[in-house]
Amino acid sequence: MGLEEKLPSGFLLTTVEGLAGFARKGSLWPATFGLACCAIEMMSTTSGRFDLARFGMEAFRASPRQADLMIVAGRVSQKMAPVLRQVYDQMAEPKWVLAMGVCASSGGMFNNYAIVQGVDHVVPVDIYLPGCPPRPEMLINAILQLHASIQAMPLGVDRERAIAETEKAALSSPSVIDAKTLLR
Ligand code: SF4
Repeated sequence: MGLEEKLPSGFLLTTVEGLAGFARKGSLWPATFGLACCAIEMMSTTSGRFDLARFGMEAFRASPRQADLMIVAGRVSQKMAPVLRQVYDQMAEPKWVLAMGVCASSGGMFNNYAIVQGVDHVVPVDIYLPGCPPRPEMLINAILQLHASIQAMPLGVDRERAIAETEKAALSSPSVIDAKTLLR
């Protein structure tokens, strides 16, 4: 009789997942990427007054290859959508997207042909933050909610399955714009 038979089922994997989640949530590096007025609030979040550095996140990266969090701060124009998708594609895996403000989340008051009616038409969004603009405290709260979901994120094939199911559900919406169409 080995030690593994005395341990509860899934003991080792649960421990590794917990450790990886703890490390990942404490080392998120956002991409330097602002689109409109919401970006001013995002920048304020890193200032001494709000101090995003408390959560290991003050290092906004100029290269998407060094970033694993995209904060979409502002409205996304149709012209900007392919650029945003390209930045997302170049980011390191695993990666997360935070839609900051009503414009990024749903197009907001810009209900017209020039603005994408929600960035989830272009990239998969992990968390939505309402407001116009959301204050830095609200952004920090959204980031902490994201930290909690990263901490609970499954690994390996379980993660692949969870991502595939989430993207399939999001893309089944008839209003979704095909990313390939945007990149043409
Ligand atoms: S939500 Fe408000 S503050 Fe943010 S980009 Fe839109 S108009 Fe600007």
